[in-house]
Amino acid sequence: MSPDHGLLMYEGKAKRIYACKDIDSVLVEFKNDATAFNALKHSQLEGKGRINCQISASLFELLEQEGIPNHYLGLLSEEWMMVQKVEVIPLEIVVRNIATGSLCKQTPIIEGKELSPPLLDLYYKDDSLSDPLLTESRLEILGIVSHAKRLEIEKLARWVNDFLKDFLDKIDLVLVDFKLEMGINNSGELLVADEISPDTCRIWDKRTLDSNDRILDKDRFRQDLGGVVEAYGEILKRVQGVTSKPRNYK
Ligand code: UDP
Repeated sequence: MSPDHGLLMYEGKAKRIYACKDIDSVLVEFKNDATAFNALKHSQLEGKGRINCQISASLFELLEQEGIPNHYLGLLSEEWMMVQKVEVIPLEIVVRNIATGSLCKQTPIIEGKELSPPLLDLYYKDDSLSDPLLTESRLEILGIVSHAKRLEIEKLARWVNDFLKDFLDKIDLVLVDFKLEMGINNSGELLVADEISPDTCRIWDKRTLDSNDRILDKDRFRQDLGGVVEAYGEILKRVQGVTSKPRNYK
């Protein structure tokens, strides 16, 4: 059942954003749609929206306890989340601890290489351009963010990585890489926004060495490995096994 909400403001591949009474907040509905390869591949996965909403809520609450600023305010139901309204910065901030995915397709960096320090790349968020990788000079010409803001974004992303990598390690999960989005709220603060879920993170299970079985993230969908919702559910089970239930928005 959907909670009371205002107009649909935006519909993305995995979420819908609605206006609500408070002009500083918006409502996020997590959808069951799964997409990959710039939406060329598309499916409905029953239960995915609920699981990603729950995982994101728990992880945002942990970030908050750590002092990492993010947009999360609380849950309205199992797949609806209240968040601070932000102006989203059109950057995909990707942090990698282990080389895989596009990094290994585009460079001769060996699959599975440990990246220490973690590699941070910025991509321009635009599906029509297939989210191109940016260089420092291109970013400067684009003028999306100042040099100081870019440093702030990178520091925040590395903080999220250090914290989440340690947290997930404690529940036998490896944080391979992930994508963050950030935005500026109505008070001018930089916040981690969007979602943090197996749709946006690569997460491997330390409890198995099998190179397919260990994949608990969207690569199961990308590579047709099956068991996508079950894998996401395993992450949720481990996260909620060591955290309290995410709070309801009052
Ligand atoms: N990612 C994402 N959205 C995107 C692109 C990447 O959430 O539009 C995530 C992806 O799930 C992975 C990380 O960012 O955890 C790095 O992705 P990569 O660049 O390897 O992209 P791929 O081409 O493999 O999706």
